[in-house]
Amino acid sequence: MQDELRWFEAAAASPSACLKQWQAQGGQAVGCLPYYVPEELIWSAGLLPVRLWGASTTARRAGGWFPPYVCSLVQTDLELALAGVYQGLRAAVGAPVCDSLRCLSQNWRAAVPELPLLTYSQPQNRATDYGKAFLAGEYRRLWGQLCALTDHAPEEARLQEAIGLYNRSRAQRRRFTALAGRRGRWVTASERCAVLKAAGFADPREYTAHLTALNDRLEALPAGDGGRIPVVTSGILCDHPRILALLDELGFFVAADDVAAESRSFAVDAPEYGADGCAALAEQFAALDRDPLLWSGGTPGGFRPGDREAHLASLARRSGAKAVVILAQQFCDPEELLSPGAKAAVEAAGIPCLLLPVDQQVADPGQAATLLETLRDLLE
Ligand code: SF4
Repeated sequence: MQDELRWFEAAAASPSACLKQWQAQGGQAVGCLPYYVPEELIWSAGLLPVRLWGASTTARRAGGWFPPYVCSLVQTDLELALAGVYQGLRAAVGAPVCDSLRCLSQNWRAAVPELPLLTYSQPQNRATDYGKAFLAGEYRRLWGQLCALTDHAPEEARLQEAIGLYNRSRAQRRRFTALAGRRGRWVTASERCAVLKAAGFADPREYTAHLTALNDRLEALPAGDGGRIPVVTSGILCDHPRILALLDELGFFVAADDVAAESRSFAVDAPEYGADGCAALAEQFAALDRDPLLWSGGTPGGFRPGDREAHLASLARRSGAKAVVILAQQFCDPEELLSPGAKAAVEAAGIPCLLLPVDQQVADPGQAATLLETLRDLLE
């Protein structure tokens, strides 16, 4: 199992090495900004989808394009683009769902004109017939643009194949989180994060094969936490080296998550074996729920306050977690608006909840160690 884990850690630690390996085989790639970019369209156009979710770095050049109160994900994403880290990508794809991403999409075109940004719109009322029809239309337009990059004609059979491949990858990721959540003695928070992060850069066929092998080995190991403390994580990203190291050092493990870069991104499959892959992907998006970034509950004006809070408390109970850790992304309006209510609701359900500020530009958040140590002392 350790050998398998090393493969994921290597991929997660060096996205550029994954990209170079892909390009050495003659492959081309496209970057995916957050959130819910339909990777199946990119893959079926003959391109590797590569996740662009910022990095733990300091935004120096990007600071000239944003006020300081824009989230670090967006700032560091543009920083990497300006530094030439995304060189070699054919384009980037994104649907700006928040004000920070809207600023990014405007600034990107002026700041890095050499890397075209293909945008599309996600409907707020996504589960209505007109919402689904609108999104399927947006996907068809985007698919045409992606296929034009590689001179492929959009082929329905290739898209159906891509949907099947990504459904298998999502299924293995869900299997992994379930297995790791019951085997805290074998999988640390850092290793869990690396396994899930690698999906953003590796060839999805290779990734799914490696993850299936890892899951088979993990399944053969006895369940148990080995004295570690199970927690549920929630927020945008858990991928912060210092916070992951603290979780490991202080004896926590992740029993389940509600993180945008992790379980939220592979919670729902697209229907297979239909005649219209774009419509199937719109159905998949319509089925998403409980995400603070997606405001509608499915009916016009149907945002359902309280859903996320109920989900967090129930996730903690079902996974046997002793606490919920909300990784509160600094300057993220959607998360910051809802996190205090989520914390209050989780605590009202009798589960301790820690609101832990995170920022990719702050390598060592001073309070994190104190807050996590206090939580551990409370739970021991
Ligand atoms: S972290 Fe928050 S503010 Fe930043 S891009 Fe994501 S949703 Fe938008």
